[in-house]
Amino acid sequence: MSSQDQNAAQHPVERTPEQWSERLAEWDQPKYRGLQIFRWIHQRGVMDPNEMSDLPKALRAKLIEDGLASPVSIDLIRDAIDGTRKVLVALHDDRKIESVLIPRGSAAQQDIYTQELFEGQDDETPGVATPSVFSQCISTQVGCAMGCGFCASGIAGLKRNLTAAEIVSQVLIGKRELPQNARLAGIVFMGMGEPLHNYGPVAQALRLISHPEGIGLSLKRVTLSTSGLVEGIEKLGRDFGGAVNLAISLHAATDETRTRIMPINKRHPLSELMPALRAYPLPPRRRITIEYTLIEGVNDSHADARALVKLVRGMRVKVNLIPMNRVPDALVLPGSSGGLSGSEPKVVDAFQNELRGAGIDAFVRKRKGDDIAAACGQLALSGEKAKVRRLSVRPA
Ligand code: SAH
Ligand code: SF4
Repeated sequence: MSSQDQNAAQHPVERTPEQWSERLAEWDQPKYRGLQIFRWIHQRGVMDPNEMSDLPKALRAKLIEDGLASPVSIDLIRDAIDGTRKVLVALHDDRKIESVLIPRGSAAQQDIYTQELFEGQDDETPGVATPSVFSQCISTQVGCAMGCGFCASGIAGLKRNLTAAEIVSQVLIGKRELPQNARLAGIVFMGMGEPLHNYGPVAQALRLISHPEGIGLSLKRVTLSTSGLVEGIEKLGRDFGGAVNLAISLHAATDETRTRIMPINKRHPLSELMPALRAYPLPPRRRITIEYTLIEGVNDSHADARALVKLVRGMRVKVNLIPMNRVPDALVLPGSSGGLSGSEPKVVDAFQNELRGAGIDAFVRKRKGDDIAAACGQLALSGEKAKVRRLSVRPA
């Protein structure tokens, strides 16, 4: 594909300043206009050429002709009592995705999205809520192909990948929807979809989000969560030198249990995944986050906790324990009468104590905004008909 064809296929919102300059050269326009347009889009969140007041009229018309416009629009905004704001985003083909703005909570109610982004920062005052500082959870696909039995996105299956323009636009419209005087201090790729199953657009979105002439968010403030696509983890480490924080949805510490709830484990068992995590080029003082959703009677026993201790021994990790949120149509395992559900609080405590007793930092997290169905995947999918999947994942 020639560079011109690539430009033609690329949505204008996903161009870097250099790519803008190339495009402008094709139109015999001065190169510096590239940076000007990039700043309008990524610093000010303006995607309508008519609002780009310092550009000549003829260039604005050319930009409209070239397709510069927001690739997404806001369908619905829902606010939770705890300050979480969920934005339902409509795509051009009328599909819906979701993006969640999460205020940094007090130490007592820290949640999975914000805690790790602010850990150890100077502006942190333990126990004091700072509702003016937000992180944003964004989606990378409509639905997800990975088919995890406890996850609404997985149950629905993959509808399509998002483009880099659609991914970065979630941040651009998210910034506009922040309360007055609030700032966006971090981004987590923990919404719908498996980010490493849509690697190219996700990598381009990371470059755009961290571009100093645009949103300018350091990759240190970005966490990407994956179910464990080994090639993707390796590529992310190579392409970004370990700058992006990595969270891994482990959810089980033996292949037998992991395969029951996460089909990806058949393709990449723990014997492949763990070495890839150990090889991730973690900067000094950084840790990999292990996400472990506690599912009653499936992965929450003492033996499961001990297996986890053994699996992560010697690694720089911290563990986030999240009691599973009930989702409609969750997997029904053989021998069980109902779908998967979250572990009881006393089981969660015992699991945490087992880890802590072995010297592992383990935290119990909740998902904010439960009253607006803010567990990722649920709001956008409430309109999509989810397929009922029963017994489709068999024990190994
Ligand atoms: N696909 C990526 C990122 C999106 S999911 C991944 O799986 O890591 C973000 C997190 O929510 C993952 O850890 C996922 O396992 C978890 N999750 C999904 N459904 C859940 C549920 N019903 N209850 C609790 N956590 C859930
Ligand atoms: Fe996909 Fe992550 Fe849900 Fe698994 S947990 S189905 S990988 S979104």
